Amino acid sequence: MTDRQRIGIFGGTFDPIHVGHLIAAADLQAGLSLDMVLFVPAGRPPHKPEQAISENHHRLAMLELAVSGNPAFAIDTTDLDRVGPSFTVDLLGVLQQRLRPAELWFLMGEDSLRDLPSWRDPNGIARQARIGVARRPGVDVNLSSLLDAVPEARGRIDLVESPLIGISATDLRRRVSAGLPISYQVPIEVERYIRECGLYVRK
Ligand code: ATP
Repeated sequence: MTDRQRIGIFGGTFDPIHVGHLIAAADLQAGLSLDMVLFVPAGRPPHKPEQAISENHHRLAMLELAVSGNPAFAIDTTDLDRVGPSFTVDLLGVLQQRLRPAELWFLMGEDSLRDLPSWRDPNGIARQARIGVARRPGVDVNLSSLLDAVPEARGRIDLVESPLIGISATDLRRRVSAGLPISYQVPIEVERYIRECGLYVRK
């Protein structure tokens, strides 16, 4: 047994953070015996260049409201502070240096695991962190073809049991703009923030 800290890195756009993220993070933390989970909001996600993303300060404020009650959850703004497109492989390099000698897990939903081969240097990602995965409704990854595409992920993917939560940020934004409720899909403080700032309302 080593006493290295075990840290989960949960990257995402978090526009907005919702209970699907929070439940997945809590189950990944428990399932992988992580000491803490760092939520790392993405600056400008390379795979979402066309989509208008809420300003950094809004996404950060919502994250703070959502995680502040959990001492094992924290936020890292490395990616927001960087200029240019944010690639996970670069982010992990920076965090690995900073958090050394901790052991890192990059946490994701199953849809992100499915897309991993299209990310920049997926083998580099797998070298720098183990990959902790929570299931996501409607996604069924073929692990053997994934490992053919990303051979260095072999033996480094940890699937964790978690309830399937059919909530996505895309759907939440659509619901707000259509005047539909989002109650209980995001923490109540986050819902209040979205209403007060008029986020996701079609201008
Ligand atoms: P969008 O709909 O805008 O793409 P999203 O809801 O997928 O957003 P992101 O911020 O893009 O949220 O996701 C960050 C990470 O959280 C990704 O790894 C994604 O797979 C995971 N995730 C998001 N929603 C869920 C969910 N309901 N269950 C499990 N994992 C999730």
